[in-house]
Amino acid sequence: MEMNLGSIAENLDEVRGRIGAGCTAAGRSPQHVTLLAVSKTFPADAVREALAAGQHAFGENYVQEALAKIEALADRRAEIEWHLIGPLQSNKTRAVAEAFDWVHTVDRLKIAERLSAQRPAALPPLNVCLQVNVSGEDSKSGASFDELPALARSVAALPGLRLRGLMSIPEPADDLAAQRIPHRRLKQALDGLREQGLALDTLSMGMSADLEAAVLEGATIVRVGSAIFGSRPRPA
Ligand SMILES: *Cc1c(COP(=O)(O)O)cnc(C)c1O
Repeated sequence: MEMNLGSIAENLDEVRGRIGAGCTAAGRSPQHVTLLAVSKTFPADAVREALAAGQHAFGENYVQEALAKIEALADRRAEIEWHLIGPLQSNKTRAVAEAFDWVHTVDRLKIAERLSAQRPAALPPLNVCLQVNVSGEDSKSGASFDELPALARSVAALPGLRLRGLMSIPEPADDLAAQRIPHRRLKQALDGLREQGLALDTLSMGMSADLEAAVLEGATIVRVGSAIFGSRPRPA
C-alpha cells in the first residue's frame, strides 16, 4: 500500500472514496459506515488538520498518550468523539471512563464493571464494544466466541455503559477473500447476539489494509490510521 502520498485532507478523501466504493460493491449506504481516524503516535496538530478536513471521530491506543492529546484538544472537545481502541488495564479504567466517548476493547466483565461504576453521572453512558478474538491465538486479547453470549448479557445490564456491538483485530491476510473470513464470523456473532434480544448496532472492523473486506461484510466502523496520517514512527 502506498503511504504518505498526500496531505491529511487528501488522504481522508481517498479513504472516504475507498469506503464509498466498498459500500457500492456491497449495496450499502456510506452513511452506515463511520470512519474512525486512528491518530495514535501522531500529535494533536495532526488531529486538528483532520478536524479541519471534516473528520470528527478519532481512535487512540495508549491511554497516557490519549489523555494528553484529549487535554491538548480540550478547546475542540465538543466536536470530537474519542474512541479507545487499545488494551485497557484495570488501573486505567477511571481515567478512561472520564475522558472517552467509546471503548472498543472490553473483553472481560471486571473491566466493564469498573468502567460502568466510574463513568461520571453527568456524562451519557460510555459506548462499548466487546473485543472478540477472531483469529484464535492465545497471545491476542479478546473474548472467545464461546464466552461472548454470557459476557454480552452481563455488560448490557451495566447502567454506566451502552453496549453497542463487537470489535476485532484479525491476523493480516493478503487477499480480499481471506480478509473477509474473520469479518464474516464477527458479523455472524453479532447477528447471534441480536437474535437473543440484545439491541446492538456496531461492528468495529477493518483497518487501512482491509477496510474494503470489512465494509463488504457489514462493518459500521472502520479504524484507519496509516492511510490517513502516514506510516507510524514506531510499531503499534
Ligand atoms: C493501529 C490500529 C488501527 C489502524 O491501523 P492502520 O493499519 O494504521 O490503519 C486500527 N485498529 C487498531 C486496534 C489499531 O491498533
